[in-house]
Amino acid sequence: MSKKNCELIRDLLPLYVDGVCSELSKQTVSEHLAACKECAAELEKMNRKFSVEADKDISVIRKIKKRMRLAKVTGIATAVILAAAGLFAGFMWAVTDCTMDYEKYHLAENVYVEEDSDGRLWFCMKQNAASLSAVAWPTVSDTDGNHMGVSGQNFDKEKKSGYGITLKMFRISKLVPWDVDGKELRFEVRSDLDYVFYYDDVTDTEYVLWGEKPSA
Ligand SMILES: [Zn+2]
Repeated sequence: MSKKNCELIRDLLPLYVDGVCSELSKQTVSEHLAACKECAAELEKMNRKFSVEADKDISVIRKIKKRMRLAKVTGIATAVILAAAGLFAGFMWAVTDCTMDYEKYHLAENVYVEEDSDGRLWFCMKQNAASLSAVAWPTVSDTDGNHMGVSGQNFDKEKKSGYGITLKMFRISKLVPWDVDGKELRFEVRSDLDYVFYYDDVTDTEYVLWGEKPSA
């Protein structure tokens, strides 16, 4: 084989490796390679180089995939944590209570005091005020107008004057429709005080239901 042939074959080798040369060229190269150690060695070198490059590509792709997986996992974890935090905050909000709106829930008609024939006093609640959403918070007022539990630090138990309740409801009850046809609820209240009242702690208003509030 002449050196000139080798030169021609080397020119063809890249095409031969890629499998894009003509049938005739392919055959010529194959025959030459079978007979020429130098060109065969050159072919092997080229193949090795290609495979190294391919490996490099694969490792780069693997790295990118790994990073994408990591980003995906981090993203999911963040979403899960945010969702959990959101649910928890929502739950905490829903189960905390707020004062029942006096006007909106018609408490003027639905909270009252009845005195029975034995002279016992009953604190009565019906409809909205007696529904599952309503929770009665009892309070006692003193003659200075302070309320136990609300302005607790000023409340003077030696000057007890009136007995009252404030109705609370879960905040969630504002969002979901709830039963307004609550059964009538009643509980006996002590009659040793001057008066019985409903207390709206938002507007700091007492609505006297029984008895008479001593004038200050
Ligand atoms: Zn050769």
